[in-house]
Amino acid sequence: MPESPIYLDHHATTPCDPRVVSTMLPLLTENFGNPASITHFHGRKAAALLDDARSLVAQSIGARTDEIYFVAGATEANNLVVHGLGLQPGSHVIASLIEHKSVSVPIQAMAKTGVDVTWLDVNHEGFVSPDRLREAIRPETRLVSVMTANGEIGTIQPVAELAAICRERGVPFHTDATQAVGKIKFDVSEIGCAFASFSAHKFYGPKGSGVLYSRRGVRLRPGTIGGGQERGMRSGTVNVPGAVGLAEALRIRGEEMESEAIRLTALRNRLWDRLTQEIDNVIVHGPRELRLPGNLNVSFMRTESEALMIALRRFSLSSGSACSSGDREPSPVLKAIGASDEISYSSIRFGLGKSNTTEEIDLLVRDLEHSVSKLREISAA
Ligand code: PMP
Repeated sequence: MPESPIYLDHHATTPCDPRVVSTMLPLLTENFGNPASITHFHGRKAAALLDDARSLVAQSIGARTDEIYFVAGATEANNLVVHGLGLQPGSHVIASLIEHKSVSVPIQAMAKTGVDVTWLDVNHEGFVSPDRLREAIRPETRLVSVMTANGEIGTIQPVAELAAICRERGVPFHTDATQAVGKIKFDVSEIGCAFASFSAHKFYGPKGSGVLYSRRGVRLRPGTIGGGQERGMRSGTVNVPGAVGLAEALRIRGEEMESEAIRLTALRNRLWDRLTQEIDNVIVHGPRELRLPGNLNVSFMRTESEALMIALRRFSLSSGSACSSGDREPSPVLKAIGASDEISYSSIRFGLGKSNTTEEIDLLVRDLEHSVSKLREISAA
């Protein structure tokens, strides 16, 4: 038995790539300057490193450098978009029913101030319908927000098509790309979105570092005011090691993502096929195609996911979204695709990543077969 559990929760977070850590370390020690202190060498050095990081990020996602804002993560970026538009009572916002809480909760807060909200439903595989979006847009619509990919059931949305509909109607389109960046191709100029958000720790970068992409010419109100850093959008000394680490992680993903996506898709499909063939009464959530490579979400009927995760203690797993798995509420994402509470309470999310091997997946299947049948025996007794 391995000494520490096998990590299968890469949608919640990923380990920092050692190459990213080596890039960041000198920025914590010798190149520690404040990029705003341009009166001296140390500050100018930090400013130059920050500029390089911004260019690298911009280049990686098809943006211009002045459209990239370094923030603490996707939660902050998502909040900046929703709060930054200065939405007035009577204005209208559209978001999908399966957005992450860092999008849906700020929008719910807006709804309390008199902003009208349409929650776009999704089909049984989690896809938003472009036609439904077209019908939902009104003259007073000020924002449409649909995530690029869902971290619970893996669905990759037709964001370019959705963004095109919004552009035709003059409505800014925001996409929370947190689960997509570094896993699948993501390019803001191909999508044509006004805003995008993501976090470095989802693609082997550091925690507490993220990006807000805000298209030139689309104005947002700043989240914090003070020293005017990040071109006035986000006052506060910039986390240079975080920004440089994010850029390096993105650069590495650019080189390795394609082959890794092929490997992870094969590994995920092996898990999918073996589970559905070897264990009865399982339901796989989400689509087979247009799905994040390392994602699988399965309900093992007549078991409780909490009990199953305890039984499978040599694996680090999650049920539903990691950020909300402390709740005992059924997953809103599974609910949105039509799953009953019983199905939702028996769901496990597998998040495969760089470290996972075929041997680990086979070990997981073996443990699952054993634990599922044991739990079912107990529940039948
Ligand atoms: N959006 C999505 C789709 C996510 O999966 C997450 C993290 N689970 C976030 C936003 C929030 O990211 P962070 O916690 O890094 O701010």
